[in-house]
Amino acid sequence: MKATRRAFLRLGIAATASAALRPARALAQGAPRVVVVGGGFAGATCARALRQAAPRVAVTLVEASPTFTACPLSNAVIGGLRELPAQQFTYDRVAADGVTVARALATGVDARARSVTLADGPRLPYDRLVLAPGIDIRWGALPGYDEAAAAQVPHAWRAGEQTLLLRRQLESMDDGGLVVISAPPNPFRCPPGPYERASLIAHFLKTRKPRSKLIILDAKDTFSKQRLFQAAWAELYPGLLEWVPLSKGGNVTSVDAATLELVTDFGRHKAAVANVIPPQKAGRIAEVAGVADRSGWCPIDPVTFESKLQAGIHVIGDAAIAGAMPKSAFAANSQAKVCAAAVATLLAGSTPPSPKLINTCYSLVAPDYGISVAGVYQPTGGQLADVPGSGGVSPSDAPRETRKAEAILAEAWFHTITAEAFG
Ligand SMILES: Cc1cc2nc3c(=O)[nH]c(=O)nc-3n(C[C@H](O)[C@H](O)[C@H](O)COP(=O)(O)OP(=O)(O)OC[C@H]3O[C@@H](n4cnc5c(N)ncnc54)[C@H](O)[C@@H]3O)c2cc1C
Repeated sequence: MKATRRAFLRLGIAATASAALRPARALAQGAPRVVVVGGGFAGATCARALRQAAPRVAVTLVEASPTFTACPLSNAVIGGLRELPAQQFTYDRVAADGVTVARALATGVDARARSVTLADGPRLPYDRLVLAPGIDIRWGALPGYDEAAAAQVPHAWRAGEQTLLLRRQLESMDDGGLVVISAPPNPFRCPPGPYERASLIAHFLKTRKPRSKLIILDAKDTFSKQRLFQAAWAELYPGLLEWVPLSKGGNVTSVDAATLELVTDFGRHKAAVANVIPPQKAGRIAEVAGVADRSGWCPIDPVTFESKLQAGIHVIGDAAIAGAMPKSAFAANSQAKVCAAAVATLLAGSTPPSPKLINTCYSLVAPDYGISVAGVYQPTGGQLADVPGSGGVSPSDAPRETRKAEAILAEAWFHTITAEAFG
């Protein structure tokens, strides 16, 4: 037991001393061990829900960063409406719930031996593993856009320094400058995210640099909540914001970070500030564990979220191929709770029931103008599919009072979802 404890302390485990000791004691009694990799909306929620559902299970959450920086509402930080600390959370409450929090990068998974290797050496044995690593950028998939280019042309698709870089570039841009956003093909994290970002940057330009313009170059012809966004743009940002779809030459084929030029089949767009939202894939550990397929994402069983490629490993959140469910924080939360219940049931030797999952997503078009989409999903034919007749978007003819109310609800939504993961 002493050796186990020393190993955990070496990892810099962010837990109380008693919580750090708990797994060793549980192991000695033969309690099942679950390791969760990735402490974002999916992983942190799953670890806590599992402790609640099955207090006998020893749960270890492996997370590389001491604080989590949330992406939802980070577009408001870019638009100068919110500060980054409002997006940041620690793992203190997760640890207080009896989850052992290991602050380390998981670098390897041995699916046969059932163990996870951490960057500085130790191995964590597991009975079941949950991978929730979020996304990685496909560096180089868009010619000219690599890690070095992101220092000039931020993606800001993982919140933190990149979010602040884009905000600073907008603040120092001359009035009259052109902002260009490149939106990726499906699938990608947060389908309405690029359009919310364009809206809040347009709001910043309208109020602070009114001679400026914004263009969205899109690799798609349709996008999430499209009619609602376009109606709001026509009302709030006429002549300021232009959307160029795939069929009108929107697909960006290369990026020149030195000159801030985005190249399409139809020409070059020279920006004063450029924001490239690049193609993405599941976080690297998914590939290392052998749970990602050739698409870069992870096929899962829709009842248990167990990988279709590796037994005993579950994948939740953005990394998973979740059928009709979008890659959103709310979807990650919903999947985390279903997966936690399924893992507890499987460890008890029973069969998990077929679940129903929910997604709700708010987007801000202006500080006092919100729109939303909701969906309900269930396993159908081996995938997660829409429950017929459920879900929908905000009404297109709603009065401004309703849009104002939805903007307030967006903030309430954020508090609820972050409280379930970290609060
Ligand atoms: C601009 C923007 C706006 C958004 N707005 C919304 C919104 O309004 N509503 C909404 O529902 N969603 C929104 N999203 C989407 C949402 O942020 C993601 O869907 C959500 O974060 C996915 O959760 P996750 O747990 O899968 O991944 P993440 O939240 O990214 O968490 C993954 C965690 O895993 C850790 N990790 C990864 N690999 C390892 C490893 N090998 N070892 C240890 N730790 C590891 C990372 O450090 C990270 O903390 C937005 C996204 C963006 C970019």
